[in-house]
Amino acid sequence: MKQPEMDSDTRPLAIEAHGLVKRFDGTTAVDGVDLAVPEGAIYGILGPNGAGKTTTLRMILGIIDPDEGVRKIFGHERPHDIAKMIGYLPEERGLYPSMKCDDAIAFMGALRGLPKAEGKKRGRELLEAHGLGHAIEKQIRQLSKGMAQTVQLLGTLVHQPKLVILDEPFSGLDAINQGKLETMIRDLAAGGTTVIFSTHVIHHAERLCEGVAIIAGGKVPYAGSVEAARDRIPAQVRLETREREGQWLGALPADHRREGDFFYFPLPETGIEPMLRALIEGNAGIQSLSIERAGLHDAFVDIAGAAAARALEEDNAAEIGA
Ligand code: ATP
Repeated sequence: MKQPEMDSDTRPLAIEAHGLVKRFDGTTAVDGVDLAVPEGAIYGILGPNGAGKTTTLRMILGIIDPDEGVRKIFGHERPHDIAKMIGYLPEERGLYPSMKCDDAIAFMGALRGLPKAEGKKRGRELLEAHGLGHAIEKQIRQLSKGMAQTVQLLGTLVHQPKLVILDEPFSGLDAINQGKLETMIRDLAAGGTTVIFSTHVIHHAERLCEGVAIIAGGKVPYAGSVEAARDRIPAQVRLETREREGQWLGALPADHRREGDFFYFPLPETGIEPMLRALIEGNAGIQSLSIERAGLHDAFVDIAGAAAARALEEDNAAEIGA
């Protein structure tokens, strides 16, 4: 059930992966993943815990090598060759607690080839720009968890990477910091940076991403645009009529459902207008009409199955409860 990637997209690809496989001690963590992420896109890897998201991202980064398949980052088969163009926020957060914020950012930049002094200067500017000017001289251990995570994210960006890879970046952030992170991701993409992030929260992928790979059990049953995923399921029509009976009933699709004054049915392929004409001519007395497009959640259920969708929700509930 492979989808064409970003139909008729002519942009060059930041990430291209074919048939990535990774096994650990006999278990297959990633089982034939294909990805195509256009330059400048915000792209989500969406799936429950244990689905293979981190393993996929680590293969893209070159932290681990695939057992099978190839990945190309900006056309390079060896991600290490272009490590300076990549920024990476790992799932396990952590900075040296005794470092000052600006030094921590400079240190992360230095790991990606940015001279220390320049990293420190940019670090200070970034901290100021993100409302953390007061923390420049503070040690990491003096910060709240959310602030420390923001500092780490700034360290991920300080060398101005062309590709930013974020593993579960929204985890552990409160709603305000999640909103700030969304803005940062959008700003990066607006500036031409490609952003790929993993998440088990559907609405983060839906709100932000133009493309998404749905991953479950190490397989990617769908990779393509979010819009095309949503379009797999016909929009649902809700119609309220004054009259209950009449010739016009014949104009409704055979699979309609009736609840009181309301009818529910999938939007016909011919669109709503021919039916509306029949309803008007038949004096059905239309009281209200709404057409609801499927969301990414419905698409996820359709693609990955209800069990995988439940697993996502359970991960989410566990995190909120944590
Ligand atoms: P999570 O958000 O929980 O990390 P994930 O989707 O990122 O989930 P992965 O971390 O990629 O999933 O793990 C996929 C599977 O591979 C899991 O069953 C995990 O236990 C296994 N796995 C991952 N890394 C290793 C490893 N180094 N050694 C053995 N098994 C591993």
